[in-house]
Amino acid sequence: MKNTFILLLFLVAVTVVNSRTEPVNERIWNIVEEITATHREIYIDLHQNPELSLMEFETSKKMADNLETMGFEVTRSVGGNGVVGVLRNGPGKVIMLRTDMDALPIKETTGLPYASRVVAMDASGAEVPVMHACGHDMHMTMWLGTLKTLVIMKDEWQGTIVAVAQPAEELLAGAKDMINDGLFNRFPMPDYALAYHVNSHVPAGSIVYCPGPSHAGTRAADIKIFGSGGHGAMPHNTIDPIVLASRIILDLQTIISREIDPIKPAVITVGSIKGGAKHNIIPDEVEMLLTIRFFEDEVYEQIKEAIIRICRGVALSAGLKEDRMPLITFTDQYTPPVDNDPELVMRAVSSMGNILGQDKVIRIPPRTAAEDFGRYGRTPENIPVAMISVGSANHELYHDHVHHGAFLPPVHHSGYVPDFYPTFRNGVAAMSRALLDLFGQR
Ligand SMILES: [Zn+2]
Ligand SMILES: [Zn+2]
Repeated sequence: MKNTFILLLFLVAVTVVNSRTEPVNERIWNIVEEITATHREIYIDLHQNPELSLMEFETSKKMADNLETMGFEVTRSVGGNGVVGVLRNGPGKVIMLRTDMDALPIKETTGLPYASRVVAMDASGAEVPVMHACGHDMHMTMWLGTLKTLVIMKDEWQGTIVAVAQPAEELLAGAKDMINDGLFNRFPMPDYALAYHVNSHVPAGSIVYCPGPSHAGTRAADIKIFGSGGHGAMPHNTIDPIVLASRIILDLQTIISREIDPIKPAVITVGSIKGGAKHNIIPDEVEMLLTIRFFEDEVYEQIKEAIIRICRGVALSAGLKEDRMPLITFTDQYTPPVDNDPELVMRAVSSMGNILGQDKVIRIPPRTAAEDFGRYGRTPENIPVAMISVGSANHELYHDHVHHGAFLPPVHHSGYVPDFYPTFRNGVAAMSRALLDLFGQR
């Protein structure tokens, strides 16, 4: 009897929740339908006019102008080309929603009628083609669409939105630059920070999430190995830095396979090795460029120590003196892991499942790709962050890919294209619903 009573109570509760949520969902879908055409135009314009990292001048102006039109208080040039829009709608939570704006030096090969033909000067002065190959144009469009939806639904929620358009994500610099320029002092301090990224290998309109660490932290390192050069015919009179570099590269592989706890994922990739100029000359030095990826700071520290020890050990074993030890620079090209707040992620995706259907919300394991969004959760304020992904793969192509091995271009590929309509509609509906629930309905 008692159990039946509890069950009845539960059913009543479920009915109450449903009747409250359904009209909200319907209203969101209606708004999404209304705004899709104008946002398709915004998307095509952004796609055709990509700008490289730190050069997002026109893009950031477009974001700022759009926010102003929607009634946000807008501050431009925050941490370079960053834009912050604040919308105060009564007392309540402060929620930050972030998009990124930069594109990549890639020549687009999608063959789309609105494909980018942009060529720009990069930081070194070289002319390079530019393409939104990481979907940041899609992020900006969904970001504007979500903000628009919340502005139209102002009567349904209260609190403050901090809309952040971030530059230079691809350099892992923009989040740091915006924080250093006072993002968390000059503007309302967020209770939560959320962001989207597209996922090229998930059907368009599905949501994928990973509570806890979802993206690896990464650090780039430069290593200069010294030797003592000479004639290739008389190696016994030299200390060959090319042989030392080869030994170091192989030894570095043992850091992951023999020193790090196998349960803790990490990657070391040597992406460049340069040394010597001619067949028969042993050079004086060799340069290597590498990246280290990790999910825990302690693992990074362990890898760092091991790299220093291995490089030094190889140099000492070759008989090099103290003043010729390898020079190792752990560069500023660094970003911490994205460590999603599990509670925030679960709250957000439960709202997303409510409007899209729970079958559209899929949990995925962590990835070793990097994203500087993690920075926003690593300041002393310890803001809970959630980076959630929206599938962008065309359904037919995805099917051909899974069942017949068709090539499905990943992000950072010249052929990458998100399937706009399902990605935009579901992306905006899901994030709008999540924000409404986080603010708490009036
Ligand atoms: Zn990217
Ligand atoms: Zn990206």
